[in-house]
Amino acid sequence: MINSIKALRVTLRSMARKRVTAEYPKEHLPVDNRYMGFPALLWDFQRDEPFCTGCMVCVRYCPTQCMSAEMHDNPRFAEGDSHRRKIIQTFEINLNRCILCGICVDVCNFDAIEMSHEHELAGRGRNDQRVDLGELLKMGKKYQADTGWKQSKPNAPSPKEKEAATQKSEAGKPAPEPPSPEGASRAEGRSG
Ligand code: SF4
Ligand code: SF4
Repeated sequence: MINSIKALRVTLRSMARKRVTAEYPKEHLPVDNRYMGFPALLWDFQRDEPFCTGCMVCVRYCPTQCMSAEMHDNPRFAEGDSHRRKIIQTFEINLNRCILCGICVDVCNFDAIEMSHEHELAGRGRNDQRVDLGELLKMGKKYQADTGWKQSKPNAPSPKEKEAATQKSEAGKPAPEPPSPEGASRAEGRSG
């Protein structure tokens, strides 16, 4: 009898405690900022284009060879609006083969790829987890918005920005001093 009362007390105490589990998949618990989900490509909102230049470094270092990328000449560089001569054209990651090691993030020199918070990509087909550039950027933008992500270093100036800076510095230079009357009269004497 005493043991039953003790057991009832434990049950009642447990019922009053705050719930720490969630009814997945109806309910989702937030993940920590440091959580490493699938890799995603990030968007440069200053230049309005991806950070990724398609340099292929991550592709070469990926231990499972689940990535592929192609670059092309950046038309926005030719117009003077971007500092990136080359930009990503196609990118694909087969997330079925990704082991979430984070090597692609470590080797990227351009702040272009991060381990996002995406972790629910179940599908039925063999190739359902082959994600393309558009999908990777969508995942990246969501990650940037959710975490308030900031790039590690500012962008280099674009051709237009460089030109504007040169014009500004030239406009700020003091005007050349007029020749002194003494020097002017000597010059006149020489010419006469
Ligand atoms: S993600 Fe980084 S390392 Fe990979 S291709 Fe793009 S710029 Fe290069
Ligand atoms: S996290 Fe690792 S396995 Fe996945 S794409 Fe990046 S380098 Fe490849």
